[in-house]
Amino acid sequence: MATNITWHAGLTHDERSKISGQKGLTIWLTGLSASGKSTIATALEQHLLHYGINAYRLDGDNVRFGLNKDLGFSEADRNENIRRIAEVAKLFADSTTVAITSFISPYRADRDTARKLHDDAKLPFLEVYVDVPVEVAEQRDPKGLYKKARAGLIPEFTGISAPYEEPLKPEVHVHSDKASVEESVKQIADYLVAQGLIKKLE
Ligand code: ADP
Repeated sequence: MATNITWHAGLTHDERSKISGQKGLTIWLTGLSASGKSTIATALEQHLLHYGINAYRLDGDNVRFGLNKDLGFSEADRNENIRRIAEVAKLFADSTTVAITSFISPYRADRDTARKLHDDAKLPFLEVYVDVPVEVAEQRDPKGLYKKARAGLIPEFTGISAPYEEPLKPEVHVHSDKASVEESVKQIADYLVAQGLIKKLE
């Protein structure tokens, strides 16, 4: 084995942050299917990018069909799905990007695991509860999933035949049946500014 190799510890998160001029963090959106997670995540990503803050969204489309395409919907696979998303979000956050995840993530234990991964790495983690009554979500049903679930075609569908465990202390609680997409985005962005996680947007 070569003896003339020096191990480089690499930049610390703070050093990277100083160079990029922004802090990294993960914004973890959770809520029922059709609660508005993807819609709000997309608008939030655009909003932050518009103000020069690097942000990146992780959702079913870019994760389930790539990194996690080997996973199904058994309990073990669902846990592994969330664990991998949390690990990837953490890497984005460590790279000083604002990672925005939009997954139902119905189980408290899974969300707590995601939070702990970030806590251990000293990276900020915000749980955002996108709250909507199941009746409203079912009425929206943009992908026709509730209809299929009611017809018994999708077993263990969150909110219909599988539980959704509400966050007990989300950092931000948005009500997508009362607030517009823009208002929800503003609520999240205002929280980030108030916590000193992003610069004032102007
Ligand atoms: P999820 O990612 O939680 O499954 P989506 O964002 O894919 O939800 O779908 C939510 C649907 O609800 C979209 O068709 C969106 O246009 C609609 N919608 C209506 N009002 C709102 C609102 N105030 N906030 C978010 N989404 C809303």
